Formats: sequence, structure tokens, C-alpha cells
Amino acid sequence: MSSGSFRTRLPGPVRNGWSTAFRHSLGRLPFPLSRRVPPSRLLHLAPPFLLDDYTPRYQLLSSLDAAKKRSAAYAHLSNCNLCPRLCGVNRYETTGMCLIGENVKVNVIAPHFGEEPCIQGHHGSGSVFFSGCNLRCKFCQNHDIAHQRNGFDLTPEQLAEWYIQLQDVGNVHNINLVTPEHVVPQVALSILHARDLGLRVPIVYNTSAFDSAASLELMAGLVDIYLPDFKVWEPATSKRLLQADDYAATAAESLKIMHRQVGDLSFTGDGIAKSGLLVRHLVMPGKEGEGARIMQFLAEEISRDTFVNIMEQYRPAAHVGKPRRRKPSSSSPTAEAVGQSDAGAGAPSEEEVRYADINRAVTNEEVGLVRRAAEAAGLWRFNDPPRHEGFAM
Ligand code: SF4
Repeated sequence: MSSGSFRTRLPGPVRNGWSTAFRHSLGRLPFPLSRRVPPSRLLHLAPPFLLDDYTPRYQLLSSLDAAKKRSAAYAHLSNCNLCPRLCGVNRYETTGMCLIGENVKVNVIAPHFGEEPCIQGHHGSGSVFFSGCNLRCKFCQNHDIAHQRNGFDLTPEQLAEWYIQLQDVGNVHNINLVTPEHVVPQVALSILHARDLGLRVPIVYNTSAFDSAASLELMAGLVDIYLPDFKVWEPATSKRLLQADDYAATAAESLKIMHRQVGDLSFTGDGIAKSGLLVRHLVMPGKEGEGARIMQFLAEEISRDTFVNIMEQYRPAAHVGKPRRRKPSSSSPTAEAVGQSDAGAGAPSEEEVRYADINRAVTNEEVGLVRRAAEAAGLWRFNDPPRHEGFAM
């Protein structure tokens, strides 16, 4: 909860959404709550989201369940229909749309300080940036990693050893798997191996939400925090900008499964998130209506207690703003792009660049509209700067 005054500014959804068990427990108190909590005391975190202690889920997995997950992971690799692309390839021999075969390709492994305060904490989030992706976002902010095979190959066992380095040397708060949708079998094997090596920090699954039910089933019991991005709502938009017309339907189902597995985001008393769902939405130019629809979905079909990060840092990248390709003409048979045929003629106009409609930053009005829609829908846990010392919770 981001407010500094829990008792006086408890929002309606929480007040109404508190569990029956909690209200019953109040009834069993030997004296009124007002006598137990002095009026001047300010609590920064609603009790349902405060954990006394936390043991990562993978630590609690039985040996039998771990063995089942290992064999399922190997089976998926030999006939990969693990994500909604359904390539059906044997990844020991070839690659599908994600471009990644038997071993993962990793671009960066490091403590990362660009995440939400409750994820990065004071020591950073132990981030592993995987190369490759099963989406083809025209505006991809990590284009050089996601759309190209760019990095070094690691086996699941080598990956696990890096997790241990991040934990023991980096002292990170968690292992943050960035864009893991297309390497779920390898990630599952690496977590199970790292468990045997002594891993004890939570696992963050940092995804585009273009996951399948099968891959999320494989991750059940291995992931502590799901960190999905819900990008756009309209099929026409996702077809044009993500090359996936079923994106929103897939993401909606994925979020439901994630929430069923881990629930709402919860913290230990140090303000570090340990378990649950944290949803990101990058506001897109001119797509604020879709953002508002996503907020409505979260409130109505996931939980009004969903922790949400409405992000405003969109910038044109990847294909956006590049010169528009033109078909070769008889007078210029080899010209493939305006940039080539107009060489020396100056920068192309807005009409000549690709995806001109999203070739700008978002406005305060667009971001504000999504935020107001979220609040109107009943959401209240946002990644706002805290008004007290500590993290937003
Ligand atoms: S994970 Fe890769 S190979 Fe498997 S279905 Fe998805 S895109 Fe295809």
C-alpha cells in the first residue's frame, strides 16, 4: 500500500475485500482494535500482504514433483509447442520462431537496479536477460537482444551456477528471469539444479505474458513472483504491432493462471516483494483506451488488490520511426527503402517513416487517463513513490 496512513485511508476495495477470516479474528479480540493500535501509529502495509517470513516455492517441491518437472522439460524440448506459436520443432536439432534451441542464449547477467523498488531493493535484482523472444514487437525496447541471437550459450547447469553467483556474490534479493517465455524448459531445469546447489532467494518470472498454459504449469511451484507485462488489448493492434493477433486473449488467460498460482503481491517487513503477481503496463501513444480496458480487466477478472505499475517511459525503438520500405519501381529497380532511394535528400517526413502513429513519447494526459481508469475500476496498489520512508507497498 502506498499510503502512509493505513487506518484512516483504507480504500473501499480492501475494506470490502478483506477476508472473512480476518474480520472474524477481529471479533475474537479481547478488547477493541482501537485500544490495541494507538491512533497515532501509522501502518504502511495492509496485513493480508505482509509476510512474517518466506521460503521460496521451489524449496518446498517434493523430490517426486521435481523429477516429474525434469522429465516434462526434456519432453517439451524435443517437440516444442510450449508457447502459443506452436512450432512443434525438436529443439535439440533446430529452432522455431524464438530462434533458440537446446541451450539458452543469455545477453546480460547482473544485479539490476532498473526494476520496481520492491523488486530491486537495496542490492539489486539478480537479472538474467535472455536473448530471443516469441513476440515480434515493432516497438521493442530491447530490440538488439530480443530479435537477434545476441549473447552467449549456457546449459541449464551453467545457468544455475550463475544464480548462485548472483546470490552469494551479488547479494541480490531475487533471481529475475527476463523474457523467459521461450526458454521455460531450460529455466525449469536450471531452478531445480540451483536448488540442489543452495539457492534460497525467490524466483521472478518477468514475462510479456505471451505464455501458454503448459509452460505456466511447468513453472508452477518454481516461480515466486510473476511479473507480466500486459501490452495492448485490441487484436488488430497486437496483430499489427506484436505480430500476434491472439495476444490479449493469451495474456488474459496467462494472468489468471499466474494469479491462481501465487496470489496478490506480498512483502516481508523489509519492503521486498517475495510472492505474488505484479502487472506492468507500458502506456503507448494513442493507445490509452486499450490501457484503460486492461485496467478494467485486472480489477474485474484478476483482483482489485493487483499490484500495478503503469509505466510512462515508452520511446520509439526498433522498427518505429525507420524509413518506410518501398516496392522497387522500374525507374529504380534496386531501391528497397526510402532511406536508400532518397540518400542525400535529408531526413524522411513523418509520412515516410514506419509506424508514424507511435513515433513519439506518451503524453501526461494519456498516462493520466490510464491511471484514472485503474482507480475508477477499483485498483489501488500502484508502484507510486512512497509517501513514507521505505518502498511502495
Ligand atoms: S518456445 Fe520457441 S520453438 Fe517453442 S513454440 Fe515457442 S517460438 Fe516455437
